[in-house]
Amino acid sequence: MDFKTYVRDIQDFPEKGIVFKDISPLLKDERAFQAATKAMIAMVGNNAVDKVIGIESRGFFFAPLLAFELSAGFVPVRKVGKLPADKISRTYALEYGSDTLEIHSDSITKGDRVLIHDDVLATGGTARAACELVESLGGEVVLCHFLLELDFLNGRRRLENYPAKSLMAF
Ligand code: AMP
Repeated sequence: MDFKTYVRDIQDFPEKGIVFKDISPLLKDERAFQAATKAMIAMVGNNAVDKVIGIESRGFFFAPLLAFELSAGFVPVRKVGKLPADKISRTYALEYGSDTLEIHSDSITKGDRVLIHDDVLATGGTARAACELVESLGGEVVLCHFLLELDFLNGRRRLENYPAKSLMAF
């Protein structure tokens, strides 16, 4: 199946100059959704995984499905101010300004093997911050895992210390 035909470009969203990769057509098509989920599970290979992290918010679409299939726990990494219990934060640079991600302090056990999932790898800053949060809690990042990556933004450079895979590259 050519998954790329289920991803549409939305010009100037959320702001002028950005071409937003909208995965809604893939999510709403039952066959594409199921096939993409299976393909993303296959991408994990033989890696043993204790926890799957989904990054808010579009990382939440697939991460719990991956966790279910891998018999792993699911852990949300959220935007600042959303998590209720004791947490740690990481602030990272965006093209303009900065953003902060948070994780519950008790969500990772020392030595956990962790898969980090998000929908899109763009500049890599978001996934890198998630990796650093996991490592601060004593987890080991076994794979950074994406539905798609934007090659021209070279996000893999920011993730050079971590294995990374994506189902599609644009
Ligand atoms: P980055 O930190 O630059 O790798 O950005 C990754 C995050 O921003 C992911 O959570 C994506 O959901 C979102 N993102 C960045 N660029 C795009 C894009 N062109 N289309 C859709 N989502 C994007």
